[in-house]
Amino acid sequence: MPFWVQILKGMLRRFLFLLFPFVLFGCSSSQPVGAPMGSVVSSPDLPVSIRQDVYHQVARMETLWRISKMYGVDIQSIMDANGLKDRSSISVGQRLLIPRATQVQSIIPVYNARPWRYIVIHHSATHQGNALSIDGVHYRRGFPNGLGYHFLIDNGTQGKQEGQIEAGPRWIKQMNGAHANAAGMNENGIGICVIGNFSERSVGEKQLGSLVFLVNTLMAHYRIPPERVIRHRDVPGKNTECPGNHFPWAEFKRRLELGR
Ligand SMILES: [Zn+2]
Repeated sequence: MPFWVQILKGMLRRFLFLLFPFVLFGCSSSQPVGAPMGSVVSSPDLPVSIRQDVYHQVARMETLWRISKMYGVDIQSIMDANGLKDRSSISVGQRLLIPRATQVQSIIPVYNARPWRYIVIHHSATHQGNALSIDGVHYRRGFPNGLGYHFLIDNGTQGKQEGQIEAGPRWIKQMNGAHANAAGMNENGIGICVIGNFSERSVGEKQLGSLVFLVNTLMAHYRIPPERVIRHRDVPGKNTECPGNHFPWAEFKRRLELGR
């Protein structure tokens, strides 16, 4: 039985998180097989009153438990709506009907399996994408473990909401990244990709807010200081513009310190 912590919002979330890092959440689901034990932080500001039927396409390493938390719908309701016989009978790419879903909550699992020391910010340099599609792109590019980033911040394309946070398979399995092959960043750095081409334009408000929330959550859990939150272009030995000349880096760092 895993332990889960679900902390609500803002400083209260941070405060409680430090005090009670492993609150028994009492969920009856399980971690993916072979994945480290972890806890989970969900995004704040959930408008539970607005519910509608939506479809969700299953990405790699997603479980019914995580999908149920994302949409605020119990597992049995999702199983009934899709004729699923058991919890493990979902497959990558499958479209699931999520009945009476809330707005998507971003579920951020955190683990103590590795001492992550840096956070490296990227852009996708594309106009669209999600974890499943970039997973496929990276496989086709020859990455044996697919999606090279640990997290994505979606931009409202390919069935995802703007600012939605996706945790990739490498994060769920606590594997090295494949996002910055220099200065040990694939081994020590958490790779976050913001979907969009910020060589052309700036980051949307919802994406930036989600990025601040995600990075603050990871900084707090792994005790990563602000100077170790870096751009791909800051990695020694990397000659790249990533995450793009229009990425509002100073604004992002200022908001990190404000915690919102
Ligand atoms: Zn990059």
